[in-house]
Amino acid sequence: MLDYNEKPILIFWEATKACMLRCRHCRAEAILNPLPDELSTDEALGLIDMITRFEKPYPVLIITGGDPLMRKDLFEVIGYAADKDIPLGIAPAVTELLNDKTMDKLIEYNVKYISISLDGGMPDTHDVIRGVKGNFHMTIEVLKKLVKREFKVQVNTLACKETVNDLPYIVKILKDLDIDIWEVFFLIKVGRGIEVGDLTPKEYEDVNNFLYEVSRYGIEVRTVEAPFYRRIAKWRIEDEYDYNKLDVKYIMRKYRLGELYEELVKKLIGLLGYPQNPPKPHIPSTRDGKGIIFVSYNGDIYPSGFAPYRLGNIRIDDLVEVYRNNPILIRIKKGDFKGKCGKCEFKDLCGGSRARAYAEYRDILHEDPACTYIP
Ligand code: SF4
Repeated sequence: MLDYNEKPILIFWEATKACMLRCRHCRAEAILNPLPDELSTDEALGLIDMITRFEKPYPVLIITGGDPLMRKDLFEVIGYAADKDIPLGIAPAVTELLNDKTMDKLIEYNVKYISISLDGGMPDTHDVIRGVKGNFHMTIEVLKKLVKREFKVQVNTLACKETVNDLPYIVKILKDLDIDIWEVFFLIKVGRGIEVGDLTPKEYEDVNNFLYEVSRYGIEVRTVEAPFYRRIAKWRIEDEYDYNKLDVKYIMRKYRLGELYEELVKKLIGLLGYPQNPPKPHIPSTRDGKGIIFVSYNGDIYPSGFAPYRLGNIRIDDLVEVYRNNPILIRIKKGDFKGKCGKCEFKDLCGGSRARAYAEYRDILHEDPACTYIP
C-alpha cells in the first residue's frame, strides 16, 4: 500500500486556465485566453522532473484546466512525461478540439485515463450548466468514441440543486455506454461555484446513500469533496441484511433518510431494475492534501483544486519537499482537525472536505459543515 505521507497517488496539474466553454460552476473561472503568468514549457517540463523525484511507482499525473487541449505545447509535455513512465490522465473539455485526431494522438502518447464531464441526464440540464447548447449530444458522442478506443473513461458529474434529480438518468447513460467509473463532485463555493445552488447537509446524506446503491450496479462511484461517503459506506457494508438486499424502506428508517433518497433510488430501480450485485463502494482514505496534491496554472501548490490554501510554488519550491514536509499538510495527513472532524472516529477514513472547511471558516483544519454526523 502507498504511504500517503511520502507520496500522493494523484497529482493534478491545471495546465491552463484557457477554455472555450464557460461552465456555470467552473472552479478555475476559466477564460478564453491563457493568463500571462502560466507556466512556460520549460517550467512544465521541470514539473515533470520534480514528479520523478517521488520515485517509482510514480503518482498518476492528471492534466486538467481550463481545457488542457488549449495548451499549445501539451503533447511536448505529455511526451516528456510518458518517456519517463509517469502514468497519465487528462480531463479535457468537450469542444471541437477533442476530435478523432486528438483522441488518436492521446492513445499514441500513452494517455490511458480520461475524464469527461456530464452534468445532466438530459440536454437541458447539462447544456445549462456547461453554458453551450448542443454540448450534451456532443459529450455523448465523444464518450462513445473514447470507449471504442479503449480509454479508461471516467464520467465526472457535479451534484448540486440544478443537477441532483438527473443523477439516476446519468447512471442509465453510464450503463448504456459501458462506462464503469463515475466521479461525483460536490459543490465548493469557489470560482464560479458560487453561482450554483448547493445541497443541504440532509440532502448530502440522501445523495451519498443513493450513490452507495449505485455501486450495486457495477459502477465504481468516487466522490469529490464528500469524503463522508466512506462513513456511510462503512456503516452500511457492515450490515449483512442491507449488504445482500436493497430494501429502501429499511434503509430510510435505519439511517433517517429523506424523500430525496427515496425518489432517486426509486427512479434508478425504474430505469435499471433491482441490482443483481452486492455493493462495491470505493473508499480510499485520501483527501485534499493526503494522497492528492494540485499544481495550478502558474505553479502554485494547493491541497486540491477546490482548496485555495497556497502551500508554495514550483517556481521556487520543491513539490516533493512541500508534499512531505509542509506543516499544514502534515496535520491534514495525520487527521489533526478541529471541531467535530477532530473528534470523529472516521477522521482517518473520511476527515471531511478540507476545501469546504476552508470555504466556510477560512480554516483548512476546521470541520466539514456539510456532514450531518455528530461523533
Ligand atoms: S464528522 Fe468529519 S470526519 Fe466525521 S464523518 Fe463527518 S465529515 Fe467525516
